[in-house]
Amino acid sequence: MLFNQLGLTAELLRAVKEQGYEKATPIQQQAIPLVLEGGDVLAGAQTGTGKTAAFTLPLLQRLQHGTVNRRRVRALVLTPTRELAAQVADSIRDYGRHLPFRTAVIYGGVSINTQIAKLRKGVDVVVATPGRLLDHLQQRTIDLGAVELLVLDEADRMLDMGFIRDIRKVMKALPAERQNLLFSATFSQEIRRLANDLLDSPAEIRIAVNGKPADGISQVVYPVDRQRKRELLSHLIGKENWRQVLVFTRTKHGANRLAKQLESDGLNSAAIHGNKSQSARLAALRDFKAGKVRVLVATDLAARGLDIERLPHVVNFELPHVSEDYVHRIGRTARAGNEGHAISLVCVDEHKLLAGIEKLLQTRLRQETISGYEPDPRIKAEPVTQGRGQQRPSGKRRNGAAKRRSGGGKGKGFGRRPAYA
Ligand code: AMP
Repeated sequence: MLFNQLGLTAELLRAVKEQGYEKATPIQQQAIPLVLEGGDVLAGAQTGTGKTAAFTLPLLQRLQHGTVNRRRVRALVLTPTRELAAQVADSIRDYGRHLPFRTAVIYGGVSINTQIAKLRKGVDVVVATPGRLLDHLQQRTIDLGAVELLVLDEADRMLDMGFIRDIRKVMKALPAERQNLLFSATFSQEIRRLANDLLDSPAEIRIAVNGKPADGISQVVYPVDRQRKRELLSHLIGKENWRQVLVFTRTKHGANRLAKQLESDGLNSAAIHGNKSQSARLAALRDFKAGKVRVLVATDLAARGLDIERLPHVVNFELPHVSEDYVHRIGRTARAGNEGHAISLVCVDEHKLLAGIEKLLQTRLRQETISGYEPDPRIKAEPVTQGRGQQRPSGKRRNGAAKRRSGGGKGKGFGRRPAYA
């Protein structure tokens, strides 16, 4: 369906055209008319489906209806991360370039004074992460009393990140009479509860089946020993001549270490994670987009919402603990109809995580063994640890390989029971 069939105004259609988009994506086709009608919407869509434009375009059009006597915050978009906030604000500016609205983006980790100065001048749209927005509310440097439209973007992730109380506090600062849009990739009980509290008889849109990745993504699993993952990754990048690769690790420490190791293998790499400053993260992202950095290593939270067009390769250096994160991760590739490749390097420790992902996807992922990197069947599974300074036990214990197991152990290092804690 073409954009001009959706009831959008000429200013917005012009901006869409300047973005180079021809057809509206399914979420845009469904959401835009519903939001324009003015009712609440509950939408299930992941990144990569064009969801940002699906709420941004009609949001801007709704603002066009009102009179702009005095600038007041009339639309509020809440996002889980700073990166996503910055990207949504960029989209609003892009699509709203022929309209008179002003947008402010508000998140922590940067000076609050610059934000206060911007807010003082008057803005129509605010895109914010919940924590910093609350700071502004407490300091009375923002007035949300005129908000007509609220968007919760990636609501599932906001709940995962523990923002529920902050969100509820923000709600108290909003007028009761308003339009609400809730976007979420998954629908847990908690999301349903939030939706029930927040939305008034919402229209529901579901784009992909819960947890189903976009079409156009080829997925493959390469079984490999944990100690040889880095070597295999460098090998694949070099041999296949991948020019732009987003690699996921489970921990910040792991992301740093891997980026350094890849550098020493001669691959320009950078790491982004929560311990890096906002400017360092944005600089890494810019260099990656510009092709100066070939491999960007990221943790799940840091990568959330990253908008990198036509990203061809996503690598799970380590599988995520939460199966849904696999879908989010690989959603970075094959965006908006492009082809993409999702590669998972899976060692014997991750057998159970892989099973969880396959259960969510309701399919078995294709497995291929790379010659020279066949897993050593003598290596035993070890517990998979998670962030916060927990590291794998290193050194001798790890090569428990030495202890031969008599039974089993055939095949590719799969099919044995991992020793989960
Ligand atoms: P999103 O799901 O909002 O993160 O968007 C994913 C990507 O698709 C972004 O890079 C958008 O610029 C792009 N995009 C959004 N809508 C369209 C469209 N109708 N046609 C082509 N690309 C689009």
